[in-house]
Amino acid sequence: MRGVPPATRKPAQRVPELRALLRRANRAYYVDHAPIMSDPEFDRLLAELDALEKAHPELDDPDSPTHRVGGEPIEGFRTIAHRVPMLSIDNAYDTTEVRDWYARVLKGLSRDDAGLFDSTSKDVRLVCDPKIDGLAISLRYEKGRLVHAVTRGDGVKGDDVTHAARVIRAIPLVLESTTPPHVLEVRGEIYLPISEFERINKEREAQDEDLFMNPRNAAAGTLKQLDPGAIAQRRLGFVAHGRGEIDTEFASSYTDLLAQLRALGVPTNRHSIACEGIDKAIKAIEAFDRARHDLDYATDGMVVRVDDFASQAALGTTSKSPRWIMAYKYAPERTTTRLLKVEHQVGKTGKITPRAVMEPVLLSGTTVRHATLHNYGRVRDAATEREGERTDIRIGDLVQVEKAGEIIPQVVGVVLGERPKNAAKVTPPEACPRCAGPVEIEPPEGVEQPLLETARRCVNPECPAQIREKLVWFAGRKQMDIDGLGEKTIDQILAEPSIPLATFADIFRLHEHREKLLALDRMGEKKVDNLLAGIESAKGRGLAKVLSGMGIRYVGDTTSKLLARRFKDLDDLLSVGEESLRPKSLSRDAARALGFPDDPADRPETGLGKDTAPAVHAYLRSKAARRTFDDLARVGVDLTSHDYAAGRAAPQGPFAGKTIVLTGTLAGYDRETLKALLEGMGAKVTGSVSKNTHLVIAGNEAGSKLTKAQDLGVEIWDEARLNDELAKANG
Ligand SMILES: [Zn+2]
Repeated sequence: MRGVPPATRKPAQRVPELRALLRRANRAYYVDHAPIMSDPEFDRLLAELDALEKAHPELDDPDSPTHRVGGEPIEGFRTIAHRVPMLSIDNAYDTTEVRDWYARVLKGLSRDDAGLFDSTSKDVRLVCDPKIDGLAISLRYEKGRLVHAVTRGDGVKGDDVTHAARVIRAIPLVLESTTPPHVLEVRGEIYLPISEFERINKEREAQDEDLFMNPRNAAAGTLKQLDPGAIAQRRLGFVAHGRGEIDTEFASSYTDLLAQLRALGVPTNRHSIACEGIDKAIKAIEAFDRARHDLDYATDGMVVRVDDFASQAALGTTSKSPRWIMAYKYAPERTTTRLLKVEHQVGKTGKITPRAVMEPVLLSGTTVRHATLHNYGRVRDAATEREGERTDIRIGDLVQVEKAGEIIPQVVGVVLGERPKNAAKVTPPEACPRCAGPVEIEPPEGVEQPLLETARRCVNPECPAQIREKLVWFAGRKQMDIDGLGEKTIDQILAEPSIPLATFADIFRLHEHREKLLALDRMGEKKVDNLLAGIESAKGRGLAKVLSGMGIRYVGDTTSKLLARRFKDLDDLLSVGEESLRPKSLSRDAARALGFPDDPADRPETGLGKDTAPAVHAYLRSKAARRTFDDLARVGVDLTSHDYAAGRAAPQGPFAGKTIVLTGTLAGYDRETLKALLEGMGAKVTGSVSKNTHLVIAGNEAGSKLTKAQDLGVEIWDEARLNDELAKANG
């Protein structure tokens, strides 16, 4: 968002050009897996388009890529019936079952009336697709435009999640064809990439919120949100794996369908493999089991189907699933080990979490010693190996451990038959294990369901465990980034009672205790000076870093930055009402009353919504928060925003104001894209080399322009240099 490039073209030309460019970039990323621009570039071009559309409302289009960042929240989900039911797929758990299925396919196809296949002569062509652990969805395109997105639901009808699908960049809003089918229903999987899953969980962990146990839960939780802005922030993926209603002869086989969809700009799975016959399919299944752990999405099996649509039709369906497809499921990564003890950890908001310490065991390639027990409710009520029987988890038990979505180890049950006689009950702490302060249980332990318990918290604001966690967080790299104040140093200072360190502001008063710091173990003159210098320079980090460092619930890294972009300093932030903290989720009337634009897409993003803004607002105005802010201001911490209105700054960076000539063929860019990209960064791209040219970017087979540039002594970059500079410029 570094502003708009020089207006070299008329808006009526530039707007469609930008839209095409952004769509091409999406296609390159999601369909071709060969990105043509970086994320910041994409955002910059999007900002340029947005500005043009705002200045020229007559050029706006509901399917413009600018409308993919949010929109009015929906009130609730309505149900839509599937024109063609979304049937479930039968599962197979070993290769014998896969072969049995194939034998039935051969038998079905060799029937006289089908007449499609002579089982003695050749193999049936099969296609194996990774079974992504996501949510099945049906996308309906009419005349090439996305009109509905519906979840699988019960297979007959599902929830209308069009608002969510429209902000998922992997899903095209408009198909790339001048003659698309009148009706085309694409079925596929919405999923959360593992990298994104980990990012979200890190944010949730930072805010002491419950972690998502696997990417599927996280994707489902995301789609359930009513606010498109919140959905857009989580970068869901999509791949097509089937078809619903289509009004033309669109494709003759599944491989054909996938190729046609890719041509229309719809992503398909690039690990989809066509196999002649069952032996090759089983080889593919086995090979994929080794490869799948390196992918950026969670898989639990492989879907095998008959490729040819006429054969599929001849095989037909049973009452609940098609006969021409089945899913092979890999054995879940689960193992058993002995529970040695349970630790009670206190987080920075006081949340107390039970953690299992176990005999080390190998699970999905890593040695696991610790696993989450989630909460004390789950400790009291766990599954056993006996059908329907449940028990509490005891120390000494043989426990079943699983990697959720192959990521976080968790205890999922107890082998009751192996319980030793002296297995000891786990006692949930009645007082804080660190400060002995009072503990609150959510929801309160009542009469109705005494087993239910989601969280326990130490409510003592002066709890040393909480204070330690808060200080470590505040000083952390992504927050205030205080050089020299790592966990070890914090522990060392906390262990010395004569140095006060209980609040964030105390950090900035440590210089008053230089002598005492010098007396600490392994703290020489140089180390102390470095620490104090690190603290001094952290004072100037600005509002976003202070907010994220405070570890306020719902105010993570991203939200802090968004708030700082919107408010010029702390007073500005504290001066507004709860509703101004969540412009995106306001009704039209409420937005108008506060002076926000009618269209939610035009309102500023704050990262907060209906559920979270009131809590954040209340906290910011609480006595405790005021005391913290006042104290920080007193010790000289900068509470103004460094990010305020950054979007209006002039372009800067290595390309700003430069006249650039492109020549030759570049492997990673087409000329138009690169030109737009450089212009977006404030450069002027011209056709011929002269004395006024600052820079020539030369690809392969560059001709006379390169020679001329050499003659004139103009700076010349090859593609590798260009990539380096772009990477640097985009930070
Ligand atoms: Zn405590």
